[in-house]
Amino acid sequence: MDGRASDDPGECEEAAEGGPGGGAPTRAFLNELLAAKAELEARNEALQLVNDLSQRFQKRLAVEAIAAETVDVLARHSQAPLVAFYLLEGEKGPLRMVTGRGFTEREMSLGALLPLEGSASGLAVRERRIVTIRRGNLDRRDLHPVVGALSERGLSTGFCIPLTHGERPLGTVNVIFPTEREISPLEIDTFHGIARAVSLAVANARLVADLEHLAFHDLPTGLPNRAGFHRRLLRLTAGGEWPARAGLVVVNLDRFREINDTLGHTVGDEILVEVVARLQARARARPADVFRLGGDEFAVVLPGAESLGEVAAEARLLLSELSQPLRVAGMGLEIGASAGVALLPEQGRDSHELLRCADVALHDAKRTPGGVAVYARELDQHTPERLALLSELGKGIRDGELVLHFQPTVALQYGFIEGFEALVRWRHPRLGLLLSGRFVPLAEATDLMRPLTGWVVKEALRQLAVWNREFPRLTMAINLSMRNILDRSFPDMLEEIVREAGVNPALLEYELTETAIMADPETAFTSLARITASGSRLAIDDFGTGYSSLSYLKRLPVDVLKIDQSFIADMATGPRSLAIVRSTVQLAHSLELGVVAEGVENRESARTLRAMGCDLAQGYYFARPAPAEEAAHHLARGGWLDVPV
Ligand code: C2E
Ligand code: MG
Ligand code: MG
Repeated sequence: MDGRASDDPGECEEAAEGGPGGGAPTRAFLNELLAAKAELEARNEALQLVNDLSQRFQKRLAVEAIAAETVDVLARHSQAPLVAFYLLEGEKGPLRMVTGRGFTEREMSLGALLPLEGSASGLAVRERRIVTIRRGNLDRRDLHPVVGALSERGLSTGFCIPLTHGERPLGTVNVIFPTEREISPLEIDTFHGIARAVSLAVANARLVADLEHLAFHDLPTGLPNRAGFHRRLLRLTAGGEWPARAGLVVVNLDRFREINDTLGHTVGDEILVEVVARLQARARARPADVFRLGGDEFAVVLPGAESLGEVAAEARLLLSELSQPLRVAGMGLEIGASAGVALLPEQGRDSHELLRCADVALHDAKRTPGGVAVYARELDQHTPERLALLSELGKGIRDGELVLHFQPTVALQYGFIEGFEALVRWRHPRLGLLLSGRFVPLAEATDLMRPLTGWVVKEALRQLAVWNREFPRLTMAINLSMRNILDRSFPDMLEEIVREAGVNPALLEYELTETAIMADPETAFTSLARITASGSRLAIDDFGTGYSSLSYLKRLPVDVLKIDQSFIADMATGPRSLAIVRSTVQLAHSLELGVVAEGVENRESARTLRAMGCDLAQGYYFARPAPAEEAAHHLARGGWLDVPV
């Protein structure tokens, strides 16, 4: 087949004109009638064809399936031995063959891509009309090499039918015949009808694909999002070898929110772009997949990972990439990150379980030097054993299984017991005496925190009332949790208990961690203002482990800082901890706050703290937490404890 892309639209639209003519009127009339009937039937058939095709497209959504169906229908309907389906890539092309039937391998590869300028199909797309290529009509301008190849094996006529949706060109469907062939007006109509149905289906398929892309991707970074993560893991676990193996690293940027708030979202976005680039660079080296789970949280999936150690090593590499200084908005910034690590299938049968485990590890990583933590069952508060424990706790509280232990706080400069801290324990019928760390965090996640704290406060005040008869200035410290202060009716409950116990509110000290306050500072401020209004004091527990900013401290009705035991334990060997303790004591004093050193375990620490002017101390060195009768022994000795001078 030689080829020419006809520039004459009449060739299509006006071809096969002509009607009945000559003969006797009755005969002519009969012929006309027969012809009209045949035409009507043909039209009906064509309409039916287009209808059928449209209906079939309603079920098919992938563009490839639409292409295959179209090629199939056209080949059957037009008896064309060669049919090709092309879609336009981008606005300027080229046209890419999606499906072709009847072509040789060479023709397939020659015609795989057709330019918009320089091919009959391109012309059809540009001018939105059916273009005919036929032997003997040569116009080399629009001749593509594939036409030469087709004519070499005797193919003679081709029609390129454009696909358009609204104003948008989509591609072409080409039908090619071995003989010289005209195109009838009916065929033109049918081709146009088919083209309309196909175009609509393609446009629909693309819209669905776009929507799906949106649902599974994060717009600002272009990374697959949380839903994309679950889908990827589903595919990993559904197909391929079983059990599927994969490592998961969940990365969380440190201080990202703070940077976003102080330097603005533009800088925040620039940082994100750089972070994504670094994560992807590492991911390419392995290879691995990167996802954005939310704000400053990313997931890296390592398909085929064999061990937690291997995944943790990768996590450290990722963090070291991220920790390199970055330049944004003309500033040099350092942005740290933490990472939690988990492994499939060991730590979960599906993406949800796996992600939960990596999150548990991440939580721990925030407190781990180096910032990487591997999932361990002990970290997990939601193991079946813990859930069972939680379900027993409510009954335990009602049945009086809780007990309080009391640990004294010592005035370091003088050696007398200033007061006690109440620490809750659970006499579990099966498991024996449980320390607070085993069940308080569980209760904190549920409404049980309210009855638990209620019981602790009542019991602590009952004991204080007893001790106050002999030691009227003795104080009692009680731990509150975040849940308590976010509970708006909690201050009322507390007030009621204190009133009923008949103790002086000024002898009470409530301890809260920084993290508990920072979770929702505004609500915390309101609750704490009410709780301290009656003269009770407020202590910041585990000071130094949260993200306290001093500006918040000034706004809070804080009276005491309790320096976390990790600094005290580390003081003898870590000069940094010693410096932190020293400056905390100074800071507290300059803000006119009291300061307590927690976890004093030896004489040396006690002596150092005393020398630096620390007011109060608590720890095994002086006394362990103990039941009331035992704690009372210290009081029986006059309330004095040994303080090294
Ligand atoms: P916390 O308030 O910081 O309590 C101090 C913890 O350190 C206690 O652990 C205590 O037994 C322990 N400790 C005291 N001296 C030393 C020492 O010299 N060395 C070491 N290594 N540890 C020492 P415990 O009783 O297991 O309590 C752990 C945490 O549980 C408490 O930390 C507190 O945050 C929470 N908690 C305890 N009782 C309650 C309660 O009634 N309500 C609430 N909301 N939380 C409680
Ligand atoms: Mg405490
Ligand atoms: Mg503490």
